[in-house]
Amino acid sequence: MEIKIRKTPTKERKAKPRDESKLGFGKVVTDHFFNIKYKEGKGWYHPVIEPYRKLQLDPTAMCLHYGQEIFEGLKAYRGPKDEIYLFRPMENIKRMNVSAERLCMPQMDEEIFLEAIKKLVILEKEWIPHGEGTSLYIRPTMIATEAALGVHPASEYLFFIVAGSVGAYYPQGFAPTKMYVSEEYSRAVRGGIGHIKAAGNYAASLYASRIATNMGYTQVLWLDSSEKRYVEEVGTSNIFFVIGNELITPPLAGSILPGVTRNSVITLAKHLKTKVVERPISIDEVIATSKNGSLKEAFASGTAAVVSPVGHIHFRGKEYSINGGKTGVLAEKLYNEILQIQYGLKADPFGWRVKIFDGKKTARK
Ligand SMILES: *Cc1c(COP(=O)(O)O)cnc(C)c1O
Repeated sequence: MEIKIRKTPTKERKAKPRDESKLGFGKVVTDHFFNIKYKEGKGWYHPVIEPYRKLQLDPTAMCLHYGQEIFEGLKAYRGPKDEIYLFRPMENIKRMNVSAERLCMPQMDEEIFLEAIKKLVILEKEWIPHGEGTSLYIRPTMIATEAALGVHPASEYLFFIVAGSVGAYYPQGFAPTKMYVSEEYSRAVRGGIGHIKAAGNYAASLYASRIATNMGYTQVLWLDSSEKRYVEEVGTSNIFFVIGNELITPPLAGSILPGVTRNSVITLAKHLKTKVVERPISIDEVIATSKNGSLKEAFASGTAAVVSPVGHIHFRGKEYSINGGKTGVLAEKLYNEILQIQYGLKADPFGWRVKIFDGKKTARK
C-alpha cells in the first residue's frame, strides 16, 4: 500500500516557532498529518499525508459516545549532524495494536505504521527544533467513526498521526515534583483498560488530578484500586523507587501502562549494574523507608520527561520528602544516558535508536 503525499502549498504553511525556549508541550502542530481509513470487509484504505485540517465527524460517530479511542506518544530527535532519530518506535507500534485489540478495534499493519511515521517526520523535519532536549512529538491516534448509536464495536475507523514541536522538559535543570496520594479515586482496575493507552483512562484521572493540583501538587500517585495499598503509577508515568541499593518498580499486573521508558530504565539500570526488582511496593513501605532514610530516590518515567524526580509525597495529610526534595544520582544518571542515546550523542548498545534521515557530514555548532 502506497502512502500518497499531498503537500501544503508553501504560502499556506505556518510560521515555525521562533523562540524554542517557549515551545512548551502540545501547543504547536506541523503543516501535515497522516491518515488512513478502515471499513469492515474492506480493511484499511486511502493512506495519505495531506495538509493539516479539521476532521469531519458525524455527531453519532461512535468514538464520541462509547470511547473507542486509543493513542500513542513518541518523539523524533535531531542529532548533532542534523540526522533524525526515532526511539524504539516498534514498541509504540506494537503497544498500539495491543490497545486496539483490547477495545475491539482493527490492527494496524506494523510496516505501514512505521512508514507513515517516517514519511511524516521527514516531510516535517524543519519542525524538529534544534535546542537541547527539544524534539518533535508524534501522536498516532485511532477513533471509531461509524455513525450509529447503540453500544457495539464500530465497523469504521480513522487512524491518524499528527506531530508537533515540543520544548525541553527541563529548560532550567531538573525540577523535582510533588506527588499527592489519592486513596479515594482510582485510575484503572485490574481487568480494565489501565494497561493500554485508551482515552478513557485519562478522563478517569482528571478529577483526582484536579484535587492534587488545587492542593499544590504536581500529580497523583495512584494506588491499586482494590486494596488502596500498592503503588501503581504517577500521573501518566511509571514510578521507580531506590531503597537501599535496589531500584524497585511495581510489576505490570494489568492496571499499569507498560511504558517504553520504564522498560528502557530497567534495561539501562541493569546494564549499569544496579539491582532492579519488579515487585509490589506498598505506600506504607514508601512512607516507612522515607522516615528511616533508606528511601534514597523516587522518580517517574515517560516519553515526555524521560525521567522525572519526585521530591515530596503527600499521604493522609502529611508531606514526606525524598532525598531532601532533590534529584537523586541514579535518576540523573539514567536521564542523561537515555537522552544521549536518543539524540545520537553516544553509542547505543541496545539498538534502540532508529536513524530515519542522514543529515549532513559535519557536525553543526
Ligand atoms: C504513556 C504512559 C506512560 C509512559 O509510557 P512511555 O511509553 O514511557 O511514554 C505511563 N503511564 C501511563 C498511564 C501512560 O499513559
